[in-house]
Amino acid sequence: MTDNAASRHTTGTGAPGAPAQTEELLGANASTNAPDDGTEPAPDVALEKDLYRPGDPIRDTKAVDGPIEQRWAERRFEAKLVNPANRRKLRVVIIGTGLAGASAASTLGEAGYRVTSFCYQDSPRRAHSIAAQGGINAAKNYKEDGDSVYRLFYDTVKGGDFRSRESNVYRLAQVSANIIDQCVAQGVPFAREYGGLLDNRSFGGVQVSRTFYARGQTGQQLLLGAYQALERQVAAGNVEMFTRHEMLELVVKDGRARGVIVRDMVTGEIETHLADAVVLASGGYGNVFFLSTNAMGCNVTATWRAHRKGAYFANPCYTQIHPTCIPVSGEHQSKLTLMSESLRNDGRIWVPRKKGDDRSPREIPEDERDHYLERIYPSFDNLVPRDIASRAAKYQCDEGKGVGPGGLGVYLDFADAISRMGAGAVEERYGNLFDIYQRITGENPYEVPMRIYPAVHYTMGGLWVDYDLQSTIPGLFVCGEANFSDHGANRLGASALMQGLADGYFVLPNTIRDYLASGPYPAIEADDPVVAEAVESVRRRIAIFLGAGGERSVDSFHRELGHIMWEYCGMERSEEGLLHAVERIRDLRKEFWSNVRVLGTQDGLNQSLEKAGRVGDFFELAELMCIDALQRRESCGGHFRAESQTEDGEALRHDDEFAYVSAWEWGGEDGTPVLHKEPLAFEHVEMKQRSYK
Ligand SMILES: Cc1cc2nc3c(=O)[nH]c(=O)nc-3n(C[C@H](O)[C@H](O)[C@H](O)COP(=O)(O)OP(=O)(O)OC[C@H]3O[C@@H](n4cnc5c(N)ncnc54)[C@H](O)[C@@H]3O)c2cc1C
Repeated sequence: MTDNAASRHTTGTGAPGAPAQTEELLGANASTNAPDDGTEPAPDVALEKDLYRPGDPIRDTKAVDGPIEQRWAERRFEAKLVNPANRRKLRVVIIGTGLAGASAASTLGEAGYRVTSFCYQDSPRRAHSIAAQGGINAAKNYKEDGDSVYRLFYDTVKGGDFRSRESNVYRLAQVSANIIDQCVAQGVPFAREYGGLLDNRSFGGVQVSRTFYARGQTGQQLLLGAYQALERQVAAGNVEMFTRHEMLELVVKDGRARGVIVRDMVTGEIETHLADAVVLASGGYGNVFFLSTNAMGCNVTATWRAHRKGAYFANPCYTQIHPTCIPVSGEHQSKLTLMSESLRNDGRIWVPRKKGDDRSPREIPEDERDHYLERIYPSFDNLVPRDIASRAAKYQCDEGKGVGPGGLGVYLDFADAISRMGAGAVEERYGNLFDIYQRITGENPYEVPMRIYPAVHYTMGGLWVDYDLQSTIPGLFVCGEANFSDHGANRLGASALMQGLADGYFVLPNTIRDYLASGPYPAIEADDPVVAEAVESVRRRIAIFLGAGGERSVDSFHRELGHIMWEYCGMERSEEGLLHAVERIRDLRKEFWSNVRVLGTQDGLNQSLEKAGRVGDFFELAELMCIDALQRRESCGGHFRAESQTEDGEALRHDDEFAYVSAWEWGGEDGTPVLHKEPLAFEHVEMKQRSYK
């Protein structure tokens, strides 16, 4: 930490006007830690003592040394094999049928393992991955514009603000090209150029065109490919599919993950499914903010239940705020809509130069418009990474230059693109996105600029995994957005689909065999004490919710929690705000358990009960996110600490102190979480302050 930052933090903790509860918390800390000489204790010492405990460093024991280009090949070779006859004796439970889960289940099924697959939707095809619009990255260099595996690796490490593992990112870049081949072979209808070759476009944070797409429906088309592969294995009898089943507990026996407890959401029955290994591909937890671009059902329960059973949770505070979403229109709203980043290829972002200018956008002459991204970041202009574009939009609105209701919006304007290539060409590229926008706002983006504002979109944090994608619980593997992944503190656009499919089609099938080769693991009886305890804990929670008899709906708690998170752990975080948030979350959580109203019964479809369980877990996660954000006294990627910025308001990292992954151990019901740090080393990409200017 720089001296400056240190002194700002010190002042911050005692800031006048801190909410009363925050002052109480700080006061309590101060007295517990007060040195004998009567001087004030350092605030970080106080925080460490009360909100979390430092633990031993953690290391990725599966990491491979040697030349970075050969590490993945070496790991694949070293990983033990399972002969085809033995694969039939091994069962793997997979939670999730999004791109990560469906690709993993179909590949393991094809390999001959026995797979049990779960999702909470009525069809695997409805997983949230279907919503992905813009595209998927791959280092194919079809445009001959200087792309390569190394450049994709470099862009991704830099884009993640040097908070990801080099080895993992390099593997991701290597595997990226295989994904496109795999999907084309499955018949995924990627966009093609006039001559029939696959087309590419650009996404934020890069200067090459490497994003493969299928209009604005890339996720849907990729998921259809994975789904068909999955259904083929269902038909072949290798995969057993359970839709409308929600995992509510992990079964751990002798330190190994051995199965799950699920609730049949239609009949209410609680079921046990045992296996030799468990894979979580349950997606991200952006809905902790209540309003996000995620599907309404997205939640943290699967990974959080595993966390409570011993899986470390990594970098929970890293949230991606996406710059181009349709602005919030009022308190009635329960969902936000993304406008794909691909629009920034041709749309120009601007605000009026004059504060409070409420003329219609078409009446504002060119010289009275501020294309602020083009002005501040001339090298990348409208295609700066998401974290940068989001903060820049916020600053414009904070300065009073925002447009639309409440001044919380900036323009994304296609007038130039339409006059350059014609409305037809624009429609061909973005037509369905324009339709979505028009249907939601009632405004025609061919005629007036879109209004956009940043919104919660993706979570870079998730369960900690090693190079094999194995969590700290042996036998528990984690894929896709559910793991803490390869994106560091910020995800570049079109990289989530790449990571989910890399994990499911190529990485996990090669690494899990190393674990399964030591199986089959000893059989577990259905009445084993560990199973009985897991079932009992599910039943107990359900009974508490149904018996609470309170006065507030689950949604009202969720909405209030989301407000707290957006206000204090959203686009900008400060020590004072985060401390306040922890206090408020704790109070609200207490009220939740005593005053929530869950109607209906457990014996059938009960959406209020489903939500209660998810929101209960969001409360615990939210607190950990704030604590993680508190201890990371630097700005990096999506995590912007107000106390740590350059003179011109850019994120200021402190590599000497914070170049680590924070891996959190569950501290117990009333305990404090334990922080284990995994140091990060950068040998191939020099750690520099990011600049897109
Ligand atoms: C609007 C939008 C657009 C996006 N566009 C892009 C894009 O263009 N390019 C890109 O790279 N990324 C994009 N992303 C991000 C990307 O879509 C996601 O990160 C990715 O699809 C996640 O895939 P996944 O397989 O990890 O999880 P998901 O697709 O979220 O699947 C999760 C699965 O887990 C199941 N599940 C969860 N919990 C439980 C439980 N407790 N019990 C049983 N089942 C459970 C669900 O039923 C589901 O099947 C976008 C995201 C959004 C929100």
